[in-house]
Amino acid sequence: MSMTSTLQQRIMIQEHFAHEQMPRELDQAEIAQYKSRIKALLKERDACLISHYYTDAVVQEITEETGGCISDSLEMARFGSVRPEQTLIVAGVKFMGETAKILSPEKRIIMPTIEATCSLDIGCPIDEFSAFCDQHPDHVVVVYANTSAAVKARADWVVTSSIAVDVVNHLEAQGKKIIWAPDRHLGNYVQKQTGIEMLMWHGSCIVHEEFQAKGILEMQKMFPEAAILVHPESPEAVIAIADAVGSTTQIIEAAVRMDNRQFIVATDRGIFYKMQQAAPGKEFIAAPTSGSGATCRSCAHCPWMAMNGLQNILSSLENFRDEVLVDQQLMVKARIPLQRMLDFAKGMKGS
Ligand code: SF4
Repeated sequence: MSMTSTLQQRIMIQEHFAHEQMPRELDQAEIAQYKSRIKALLKERDACLISHYYTDAVVQEITEETGGCISDSLEMARFGSVRPEQTLIVAGVKFMGETAKILSPEKRIIMPTIEATCSLDIGCPIDEFSAFCDQHPDHVVVVYANTSAAVKARADWVVTSSIAVDVVNHLEAQGKKIIWAPDRHLGNYVQKQTGIEMLMWHGSCIVHEEFQAKGILEMQKMFPEAAILVHPESPEAVIAIADAVGSTTQIIEAAVRMDNRQFIVATDRGIFYKMQQAAPGKEFIAAPTSGSGATCRSCAHCPWMAMNGLQNILSSLENFRDEVLVDQQLMVKARIPLQRMLDFAKGMKGS
């Protein structure tokens, strides 16, 4: 199933919009002022800050300074669900806010900007996806976490990149046929790892899709000792030259575990903040992309993640404007495949 040009156009328009809405860079005095006001308001409003690895360093800093959580989308939602605070400020993209709401329906979920989205989410609209699933009623529907609440509600399983291979192997052992959505590169990777053919939706991440094997290998000539770390949303040729492939958390773990002192990293460069903390003394180099300069498509940084900043974190605390609301019925339905995955992950840890 190939992505329609209308969807591609929609992604480009949203991407352009994201660039227009990026918070301006702040000087040190302004950063200190914003941070101090945010710290006070988080307490006053019984709120907790939860941020994704791909947000800017200044967002991750204030998250840590206030005892919040920086992680991948599922751990963000899980952390939020066990916190005592009744309001969660989710600095990331919209599907992360929705997932937090689905797992904590009683809490108020606020985003610095609810306009922050994801090319995988935009590229998998519920009507088209549902019609596709209806054409294959004998297939189990497995969707990646980077999807809307409506798409999750249509699915049998939600998976993250860290658990996808295990879930697909588990379904194959039960003799199931599988629909995979929306990321085709991650889907290809899972197919290669498991040897299991899946019916694939053709979405992609506009950030990871831009990494190129040729450029990375050229860069490795300059840093011959460097290991190559790759997120599986990257193209097949990039995955093929990786020394380690994994989810955001797994990439950080690989940087700690491996003996190399230098790493070329093919994922959003926002992750360097946590990598440097986890593996001090090691050097992380952003993998080159196919773009050639100042366009978003060459920056290895998600334009929607970059919409989160201290300015809109503060205003979200002041006015609770961008609240994430999910239809009650949808929430109940979407929770089923999400919970299935969480239970499966728990079983894996216990085994
Ligand atoms: S980095 Fe890619 S997958 Fe992640 S939010 Fe941005 S567009 Fe979506």
